[in-house]
Amino acid sequence: MKALQFDSPGLDKLRVVDLPKPKPEAHEVLLRVEMAGVNPVDYSVVTGNFAKPMPHVPGAEVAGTVEEVGQHVRSLKPGDKVVLYNRVFDGNCDMCASGMEMECRNGGIMSIVTNGGFAEYMVAPEWNLIKVPEVGWDVAASLPVAALTSYHALKVTGVSPGKAVAVIGASGNTGIFAVQLAKLMGATVVALSSKSWLKEFGADYVSNYSGAKGQVEKATDGLGVDVVVATLGAAHVNEAMSWLKAGGKVVTFGAIGGDELKLSLSALYGRHLSLVGTTGGTRAELMELARLSPRLKVKTWKIYPLAEGATALSALRSSERDGRIFIEP
Ligand SMILES: [Zn+2]
Repeated sequence: MKALQFDSPGLDKLRVVDLPKPKPEAHEVLLRVEMAGVNPVDYSVVTGNFAKPMPHVPGAEVAGTVEEVGQHVRSLKPGDKVVLYNRVFDGNCDMCASGMEMECRNGGIMSIVTNGGFAEYMVAPEWNLIKVPEVGWDVAASLPVAALTSYHALKVTGVSPGKAVAVIGASGNTGIFAVQLAKLMGATVVALSSKSWLKEFGADYVSNYSGAKGQVEKATDGLGVDVVVATLGAAHVNEAMSWLKAGGKVVTFGAIGGDELKLSLSALYGRHLSLVGTTGGTRAELMELARLSPRLKVKTWKIYPLAEGATALSALRSSERDGRIFIEP
């Protein structure tokens, strides 16, 4: 099978190689990869120095068709459409027992501590694969990282009907789904971005950052929003605190726009604000998203073949980027 592989850090080290088609063990499933989302985590894996094994196949966000199942697999059969829950977890620690598989004490992220899905085939344990209904592969390949990260953050911060949510970086991988999912959860949504197409994704208001405060006031009759989803890390977080009503929450799950924050504690405690961190989501939430997926859509910018993997990863940082990037093996 063809796979995109690197043997030392750097986009220029990515090569399409021929590897043996993997064979599923007793509780494993062989997956034909139909589409893989390209995310900042993949960029970090390829350019950083922490992936193993080496040489390494990246690709954290995978959707595909079951090709073959191991002898003890009962939950899936060849032909099933699935997405990858991309966490290694033991199922046996206190975190797993409380449904927090992404914080498993013996866990890790598949595509970092294992090979990933930028390949024609991939094997995974059956408990890492979740069936999806008939939806486009671009939507399916957006569920495991982009949609799941946003969905978990919205649930943790208690988004529900009647709440108001502002999304920083609304046109990005996670932002597109934060907007759609917050709307589906019954919230009024203020999308912060220069992209007017976000209205088609459920945003009630779209504004650039200079007009954010005014737009938030307009959307909430001057009350402020309940939740700000800060998809860009530290960027705009201090400003975002002024958009919140008392008791409001800023939730973050990435640091692309900056990792460090200078924070006024009195501004935080004085109005009962919370700064919440999340990462990924649970298996149960990915199952919920699979059921919701016919109501989700994605803005696709570019789809690349394996051979253009390096271009796909560098396109993540393109200023012209207008939607998601995928690899189609
Ligand atoms: Zn565990």
